[in-house]
Amino acid sequence: MYRTHNCGELTLKNKGEKVILSGWVQRLRNLGGMTFIDLRDRYGITQLVFNMDTNADLCKEARKLGREYVIRIEGIVEERSNKNPAIPTGDVEIKAGKIDILNKAETPPFTIEDDTDGGDELLMKYRYLDLRRNILKKNLELRHLMAQETRKYLSGQGFIEIETPMLIKSTPEGARDFVVPSRINPGEFYALPQSPQTFKQLIMVAGYDKYFQIVRCFRDEDLRADRQPEFTQIDCEMSFVTRDDILNAFEELIRHLFKAVKNIEINQKFLRLPYKEAMENYGTDKPDIRFNMKIKEITELVKGKGFTIFDNSEYIGGIYAQGCSEYSRKQIDELTDFVKKPQIGAKGLISVKYDTDNTFKSSVDKYYTREELAGWAKKFNARPGGLILILAGEKTNTLNALGELRLEMARQVGLQDKNKFAPLWVVDFPLLEWNEEIKRYYAMHHPFTSPKAEDIDKLETDPGNTRANAYDLVINGVELGGGSVRIHDKNLQQRMFKALGFTEEEADRQFGFLMNAFKYGAPPHGGIAFGFDRCVSLFAGLDSIRDVIAFPKNNAGKDVMIDSPSPISEEQLKELSLKLNVKK
Ligand code: ASP
Repeated sequence: MYRTHNCGELTLKNKGEKVILSGWVQRLRNLGGMTFIDLRDRYGITQLVFNMDTNADLCKEARKLGREYVIRIEGIVEERSNKNPAIPTGDVEIKAGKIDILNKAETPPFTIEDDTDGGDELLMKYRYLDLRRNILKKNLELRHLMAQETRKYLSGQGFIEIETPMLIKSTPEGARDFVVPSRINPGEFYALPQSPQTFKQLIMVAGYDKYFQIVRCFRDEDLRADRQPEFTQIDCEMSFVTRDDILNAFEELIRHLFKAVKNIEINQKFLRLPYKEAMENYGTDKPDIRFNMKIKEITELVKGKGFTIFDNSEYIGGIYAQGCSEYSRKQIDELTDFVKKPQIGAKGLISVKYDTDNTFKSSVDKYYTREELAGWAKKFNARPGGLILILAGEKTNTLNALGELRLEMARQVGLQDKNKFAPLWVVDFPLLEWNEEIKRYYAMHHPFTSPKAEDIDKLETDPGNTRANAYDLVINGVELGGGSVRIHDKNLQQRMFKALGFTEEEADRQFGFLMNAFKYGAPPHGGIAFGFDRCVSLFAGLDSIRDVIAFPKNNAGKDVMIDSPSPISEEQLKELSLKLNVKK
C-alpha cells in the first residue's frame, strides 16, 4: 500500500495514528539533531520529522534524499511543538519509522515553490514541474470546478452536450484555419474548427433545441496575452427563442457560476448597452463599467474659437478624472506619450486642471476664457480638484484612443477593483464591417448572424448601417462571450452571402450543406459561445489565459516542451502527397 492518507488531510484528530504517506520531497531541513522534510502531493504538505537520538540510521537515510524525490513513509502522527497555522496540517508532524525511495529525481531546473526562480522559457519547457506549483494547481482546480458547474447547470436546464467533429471544412469566424492534409484523399485538406458554429446550427435543424458543448477551437491568429491558437469555448445554441430569451438564459449561467464558484451574488439585471452607446461613452465595445469616467463629446462647445487643432477636427471629446488636478507636468507629459503611442495613435493631449482654488490651468488658455473653460467643466460635471483630458481628431480613432486613456487613468487612480465584477451585454453590433484593403464587407460576427428585423431592408441599400441581432457578454472590460440570433431562412442567408461579396457558386461550394439543411425545416434559433479560458482567468484574477491552461503555447505559438510545431519526415510528406516550399 502506498498511502493511507494524502499529504493535506492529517490533523490533531489523527494524533497517535500509524499512517503511510507518499509524495514528493519539497524541502529538507537538517538541523543537526533533527531533520525535517516537507512532503508534498496534490492535496498539501505534511511535515516529517527524523530524530538523530532515537533513530540515527533512518535520520541519515533521510538526509540523503534530494528535492523532488518520490518517497513513501510510514510513521506516527504527533502533535507539533512549533505549529504552522498557515497550512491545514500545520498542527501535526509524522515521526517517521520507515522510508522507501519510490523514485529518485534530478535537481529540478527551478525551485518548485510559490515564488519560483525559473524564467518563462524554463517554466514552459518543464511545464510538468511548473504544474506541481500551488498557483497552477489552484488554477486547474478552478477550471475543473467551473467546467463541472457549467455542465451541471446547463444539463439541469435541459441542455444536451453533443460532440461535433474536429476534422471539418473551414468555418469562417474571421481567422485563418489550421488545416490537416488527408492521406487517403490526396491534395485535400480538413480544417480544424474555429468553432462548431455550423454544426450547432445543424443540430438545431435536427431538432435538439438546447445544445451545449465544452469544446476546443482552433484559430491561426497572431498571439496576444489573452489568445492561444487552441482554446476552449462553452458553446451553446437554442431553438424557438428570441434574443432576450437567450440573454436571460445565459445571464443565469453566469450568475450561477459566480454563486457556485466564488460565492458572489450578482443580483442586478445585466445592463444591455447598444454598441453605438458603448463606443460613444467608453470608446470600446468591451467597456469596463466597474467605474464611470464616461467619455463626453465637446465638439460643438470648443470649435470655432481660433484653436486650429480643434477647428480642424471631426470630433473632440474627453474624460474627467476626479482628484487629479495635482498631476505634475511630468505626469501629463507621460500621459501625452501614452496617447501618442502608435497603437493608440492620438496626435496630442490637451489637459485642463480645475484647481481646488477654483481656477483653471490648461494648455489652451490662449484661446479660451475662464468662462469657456468653466463651461467645459460643467459638461464633465467636474469639481475643483479634477483633471479634464481631451483628444481631438477623426471620430472613431479618437474615441478608441479616449477608451484607452480612460483605462490608463483608471489604472493610475486605482479604479479597477479585482474583487468587483461588473457584467453587461453589448447589443446591436453592426452586421457588417468594411475592409478598405480588399474593398468588401466582412461579417462582424459571422455570416450566419441575423440582421435586426427592422434593419433587414438595409442589407442592400445601406449595408454599413445594418445592425445585427448580435451580442457580447463583457465583464470588467473582458469580452467573455458572444453570439447572435441566426438567420434560419434560406433566402435571407443568400442575401447575406451576397452582401459579403460571395458569388452564388462560392456560397454554394462553402455553405451548400447549411443552405440545403435550411430547406428542410430550420427552426428559428440563436446562441452564444463563451471563451472558457477567459472565464477561468477572470475568476482567478489573472490577466492572461496562459496559466489556466495545462499545456499552453508560447508567444510564438510553440510548445517548447514537446517541441511543436516541428518538421515531419520525408516519408510522411510523401504519404500525404505534399512537397514543401519553405524558404529559409
Ligand atoms: N461561433 C461563435 C464564435 O465562436 C459564437 C456564436 O455565435 O455562438 O464566436
